Amino acid sequence: MANTKIEWCDETINPVVGCSKCSPGCDNCYAERQAARLAKMSKTAVRYGGVVNNRGRWTGKLSQMDLSVFDRLPQRPCSVFIGSMTDLFHPNLDDDDGQLTRSLFSRMNEYPDHSFLILTKRPHLMRQAVEWVIAQDGELPPNCWLGVTVCNQEEADDKIPMLLSIPAVGRFVSIEPMLGGINVAPWLRCKHPKSGVLILMLT
Ligand code: SF4
Repeated sequence: MANTKIEWCDETINPVVGCSKCSPGCDNCYAERQAARLAKMSKTAVRYGGVVNNRGRWTGKLSQMDLSVFDRLPQRPCSVFIGSMTDLFHPNLDDDDGQLTRSLFSRMNEYPDHSFLILTKRPHLMRQAVEWVIAQDGELPPNCWLGVTVCNQEEADDKIPMLLSIPAVGRFVSIEPMLGGINVAPWLRCKHPKSGVLILMLT
């Protein structure tokens, strides 16, 4: 767990680290640079050593740990970004037939005063995983926010409707980096039967 400079959350936790690039928006991946730095530090070398190569680039391997990181969350209500050093819906996630994702959502229920945010560039895999969890457990926790990152109009046209098809109580869009003009007006008018709100977080 770590305090963070990310403006829209108070804490970050990373039960999984590692990723690979899937979008023009990944070209200057901050998490990759961080992982390359942490791979050289003695305390974190084991965790990060395999997820970046000797040139500091993602290998596509993920390093996973149990969810005990939740136990160290502060008592005061806070917003927690889960997965700042990965994309939690990466295809290489060893999800144990969906049990990891299921446990992740389940643990959010233990902290009803916290808000948990998960951001992906792979909303098709997020939707698949979430649909499975809902089939097992019913609705997602009310304190869970799901988001997508888009960097251009093409990605916005593809990923925002996909996000809106996921029945989370809270959903958000991160535009970062913005590689061209993006018109989000069509989705600002979108009403989802459960939440009715789409919040855009522009960074
Ligand atoms: S999806 Fe996110 S973490 Fe993964 S390479 Fe792209 S920017 Fe980096």
